[in-house]
Amino acid sequence: MAKVDTSPIMKTYNRFPVTLVKGKGSYVWDDKGNKYLDYTAGIATCNLGHVPEEIRGKVMEQFDQLWHCSNLYHIPAQQQLAELLVEYSCFDQVFFCNSGAEANEAAIKLARKYAHDQGKEEGEIVTFTQSFHGRTMATLSATGQKKIQHGFTPLLTGFRHEPFNDMEALEKIIQPDTIAVLLELVQGEGGVMVANSEWVQKLATLCKQHDVLLIVDEVQTGIGRTGSLFAYEQYDIEPDIITLAKGLGSGIPIGAILAKEEVAQSFQPGSHGSTFGGNPLAATAGLETVKYLAKEEHQLTIKKNILYFHNELRDIKDKFSLIKEVRGKGLLLGLAVEGNALDIISLIREMGVLVLPAGPNVIRILPPLNTTKAEIDYFVHQLSEALEAKSKAI
Ligand SMILES: *Cc1c(COP(=O)(O)O)cnc(C)c1O
Repeated sequence: MAKVDTSPIMKTYNRFPVTLVKGKGSYVWDDKGNKYLDYTAGIATCNLGHVPEEIRGKVMEQFDQLWHCSNLYHIPAQQQLAELLVEYSCFDQVFFCNSGAEANEAAIKLARKYAHDQGKEEGEIVTFTQSFHGRTMATLSATGQKKIQHGFTPLLTGFRHEPFNDMEALEKIIQPDTIAVLLELVQGEGGVMVANSEWVQKLATLCKQHDVLLIVDEVQTGIGRTGSLFAYEQYDIEPDIITLAKGLGSGIPIGAILAKEEVAQSFQPGSHGSTFGGNPLAATAGLETVKYLAKEEHQLTIKKNILYFHNELRDIKDKFSLIKEVRGKGLLLGLAVEGNALDIISLIREMGVLVLPAGPNVIRILPPLNTTKAEIDYFVHQLSEALEAKSKAI
């Protein structure tokens, strides 16, 4: 067959025309020596900035001791990370994997197994429109976006999609065969849509009343991103399961699910597993990340950053009619703009600042949680210049 492309990499991504070779704190450098303020944080992953000293030290110590041994043996860092996650949450047990999709797969499997253990074998899981739960077959079937599912039928059965933030739709949300509800508290990929508190609380109450599991996908919102270690804490609810990944290892791949004991016990030897999940290196990165975020001085810095950044963005919105809405929670922020978000993202990149899209009309801003006031000021300045240029061009 004739070659149609010279790249040996499959085209699953439309990449920006930049090659990053180095990072430190909130900054990255490309192969030509250009410096960028990175307000993408590797898609909400490098939450403590690039190569954070506090994490690097312990990971390097582990690097010299043992990289991998499989989950057939006890792993001290994994044990300690699980203990901390349990201590700082309403959950009792943890399962480790390597990514967000895998965490959601595990949560879906656990919910189904728990239902089976109660004699419910054909149950369905409710998820929401515009949600994003991953790219594996189960998680893309759970995802409420046609564009993610296109070309991959037959999908997994057992999912029903309902409208997000819709009070009226709640009345019929739980059907006789519903076993679980899975949702994001801020839909990240879906356009930075924040779940309404009242709606979430009513949903959680309905789940409790009908003995239906509440699963929160905190792959993007977790690990301090929204201003608390987990976003569910701000909604005054207690889910049965949450899933984590992106920020958990500060950029080293690790995922996890946290569950209440009664649910967690449905996983027994042979039910589920992962060769790499929570391996010594990844678990050490996770452990040091959670320890860092647990420190009060760091929480104070993050709170200050959130207040300051929100104010600055509100001011920017008042100055530019191009911006239709500022939304988000903590440092998971979205600017809904008039027209194509990618145009502005390209402009601002040429001015030395990296941000992301979330759908066609939203600029997604994900600074490292420990960014500085000076960096926020620089960001706001560059963003203003880009919006000024764009406004003139229209
Ligand atoms: C990124 C993301 C996922 C998928 O995580 P991967 O590590 O890419 O598999 C799942 N759910 C949410 C909410 C996400 O933001």
